[in-house]
Amino acid sequence: MAAERSRPRFPAGAPMASFTLHGIPVSRGIAIGRAHLLAPAALDVKHYLVAEEQVEAEVARLQQALAAVHKELQTLWNELPKDAPTELGAFIDVHALILSDPMISEAPLDIIRARHYNAEWALLTQIDELSAQFDEIEDLYLRERKADIQQVAERVLKVLMGTEQILPPKAGGEDEAQPQMIIVAHDISPADMLQFRDRSFIGFVTDVGGQNSHTAIVARSLDIPAAVGMSGASTLIEQDDWLIIDGDAGVVIANPSPLVLEQYRERQGAAARARKKLQKLKKTPAITKDGVEITLLANIELPDDCPAAMEAGANGVGLFRSEFLFMGRNSKIPSEDEQFEQYKKAVVAMKGRPVTIRTLDIGADKPLDQSEQTALNPALGLRAIRYCLAEPQIFLTQLRAILRASAFGKVRILIPMLAHAFEIDQSLAMIAQAKAELRELGVKFDNDVDVGAMIEIPAAALALPMFVKRMDFLSIGTNDLIQYTLAIDRVDYEVAHLYNPLHPAVLQLISMTIAAGHKAGIDVAVCGEMAGDVKLTRLLLGMGLREFSMHPAQLLSVKQEILNSDLARIMPQTRKIMRSMEPNVIADAVEQLQLM
Ligand code: PEP
Ligand code: MG
Repeated sequence: MAAERSRPRFPAGAPMASFTLHGIPVSRGIAIGRAHLLAPAALDVKHYLVAEEQVEAEVARLQQALAAVHKELQTLWNELPKDAPTELGAFIDVHALILSDPMISEAPLDIIRARHYNAEWALLTQIDELSAQFDEIEDLYLRERKADIQQVAERVLKVLMGTEQILPPKAGGEDEAQPQMIIVAHDISPADMLQFRDRSFIGFVTDVGGQNSHTAIVARSLDIPAAVGMSGASTLIEQDDWLIIDGDAGVVIANPSPLVLEQYRERQGAAARARKKLQKLKKTPAITKDGVEITLLANIELPDDCPAAMEAGANGVGLFRSEFLFMGRNSKIPSEDEQFEQYKKAVVAMKGRPVTIRTLDIGADKPLDQSEQTALNPALGLRAIRYCLAEPQIFLTQLRAILRASAFGKVRILIPMLAHAFEIDQSLAMIAQAKAELRELGVKFDNDVDVGAMIEIPAAALALPMFVKRMDFLSIGTNDLIQYTLAIDRVDYEVAHLYNPLHPAVLQLISMTIAAGHKAGIDVAVCGEMAGDVKLTRLLLGMGLREFSMHPAQLLSVKQEILNSDLARIMPQTRKIMRSMEPNVIADAVEQLQLM
């Protein structure tokens, strides 16, 4: 358990050194709040703020857990065999003493009352503080008692995690009495990021990470400002520092002056007003000025994202990253029924609109279990369809669950990371087998469910006839297509400057895929992050793209751009861009497109 540095909490008026850090912007907007430093071990417990009226109930929950551990230790002591070594009894005594000490039995309760932390978080905060104090003790014997404190805390946490949690309030507006928090961590895995959904955090800052890492993608889907690749942030920023995240510029300002704070508050207000204005477009169909209708779909991680997709007026789900149902479960694969319920939930929530469920894309920066990551080069390893074909029972279970959900609405199956014809054929054979198994059991499903391929490996984009012949639709995963074309790890901030969606090679591969799909008469979407970037909307339209899939939060801005676009003017300029191999010419011409 890494220690938080000790510092007075929420110091009143003490001037603190202001500094600015630069990193990679991953999620737009401005967040103003207090830093909450997260140690890696702390990620295993839930962090949220409890509502004022629930504080005493949360205090009681912790008190009950403490009492339960007392009882547990008492039972252990009573059941000690007669011939047990005396150290064992003494060891239990020490733990009982620690548990009764006010530093454990009272201080965390005060933290809940003062800061509204949930019980687990309050306990961990106190333990981290104590650990830091123990680290400074010179006496080795005493210093080693830190381990005993941590063991006692773990016992309490175990009991707490088994008790019903009091739900956190939804994140709301800035409240001076209860400033909102910005998470600062060295790194956060995509699975850990998921636990922050619906919590009262308003922004994220991490030392490492790339713009299109899955952690960044989840932050974007939470629709809160975030910046990654902020080298040194978790050591330079201190607990409770005031922070401004400028998610558009990838800048974090610590302890800003009142003047800077005021400027950012103004910008925050202006952005909120612009968002409100966009809401008016919710029901407007996405049609270009010259009458071409565009399909706007949503990317989701979990079925709970569907209401936001509906709210944004999405025409359906273009990418359901099903692997998020499998992550953060210590490699325990969800059963067929469990998966079916989740897929059905999404299908029902989308009220007849198509739901494109991507089969398990596990591996690379989305391991089933963080501790099991062993491949030297996981992005090039047993990832996505490669993993599924190597684990046919897991794949078949998922396919049956998806097919069962297809009886409740329009479902499409999307296969990630295909490169070889035999992978396509084997995937289709597995789908046929899953159908046969369901048929045998008399279970209903849509026999005509469409099956599509993600085009995200350059080899796929260069061998499109192999795909269009076998598949019902294509979806371009630009995040990986860029990673694999330019040979840069999308998670590695040290090569983040090489991650360029406008590289001529990337543009050629995208354009070729759109053209080949349309020639074959099948739908082509872009579901990578390029689809939600308004600066690229016109370029993609000019390339012939008619289906965009993105986070619900990006949908209305993209729609606005489409409504203001005239394909007749965009197309010739796009052709000019596609003829160029000069990055500067391309970048300038893309900028020009936005002014047309
Ligand atoms: C992509 O690669 O563009 C994509 C949409 O898939 P993911 O980001 O989940 O790898
Ligand atoms: Mg991908």
